[in-house]
Amino acid sequence: MARARNRCALVAHGGAGSAGPGAERAERRRAMIAAMRLGARVLRANGSALEAVVATVAALEDHPLFNAGYGSLLNSEGNVEMDASVMFAEPVVDPPTLRPASRGKRAGHTGYFNPAEYSVSAGAVAAISRVRNPIMLARAVMEHSPHILMAGAGAENFARKSGVRLVRPEEMVTEHARERWRARKQQSGMLAAQRAARAAMGHGTVGAVAVDDRGAIAAATSTGGVPGKLFGRVGDSALIGAGTFAHAFGAASATGQGEAIILTALCREAVLALADGSPKAVAREVILEMIDATGAEAGIILIDSRGRIGYAHNSASMQVARYDCAGGLRHLWLEPIATARRP
Ligand code: ASP
Repeated sequence: MARARNRCALVAHGGAGSAGPGAERAERRRAMIAAMRLGARVLRANGSALEAVVATVAALEDHPLFNAGYGSLLNSEGNVEMDASVMFAEPVVDPPTLRPASRGKRAGHTGYFNPAEYSVSAGAVAAISRVRNPIMLARAVMEHSPHILMAGAGAENFARKSGVRLVRPEEMVTEHARERWRARKQQSGMLAAQRAARAAMGHGTVGAVAVDDRGAIAAATSTGGVPGKLFGRVGDSALIGAGTFAHAFGAASATGQGEAIILTALCREAVLALADGSPKAVAREVILEMIDATGAEAGIILIDSRGRIGYAHNSASMQVARYDCAGGLRHLWLEPIATARRP
């Protein structure tokens, strides 16, 4: 069996959606690069993929221009309700062994880590209003509870017990989010309101995926949800397999219309497909399949266990940044994929 040779890497997204106000683009870019630097520093210091994705996502949650943590958009009642999840796949042997890709698989596919040599864990929170950094609470659920998903007041109670910072719900509401909520309320009709809100919102949800030097793999996603959402609605970002997934083959974080991402179990589908394709090809393929199945808009970032990266989306715009331990940091505003299928 071959010895594993992976390369540490980190990718983050700042949400799929409209291009957002031009005046905010430079600041969104700056914030994304600053968050990536925190995650990259963890990887450079031989820290874990889990630490790297949580550090990156928590920094974006703290920034008011992203729809996650502080700055989350408001639900139909005018309150913040946030979802977040994290998943970690850790090798139980050091280093894990690399299996060759099975016969008949795509040319150039070099193999994947043996899932039997990994242990996976996950944590998630849904519909919380009082936690400054939802991703940290998702991690606490993973590490300090017997559960995977906790919601609402019970999750906040757990935060208090596990030392995760609680704030008053009003402290999570920015003036920006309040103004957008008021503007949406003034629009007549749900569809018009949703369109207006999405256009005003621009990018928002945040996520990151990483592989570290030991071959450990992690994914994290955090959001304030979709514009115009009803009180109590929970989206894909709280659901392992839909908005977040990590496994011996790689990791994924999704953004966009959560109902479509849930219906297609987008992140799990993508990560399992890494057994048979590059992250670049798989990201494109799963978005095309999501379009066929739902006609919705969504985006995904994907990393495989060797540190190779892929991303794709079909919304107006999506912001991503990538860090490769060998090649440095790069920021991109992604164009949507061409939606016509390959012949
Ligand atoms: N996927 C998120 C949700 O449905 C929203 C987004 O990514 O824009 O809650």
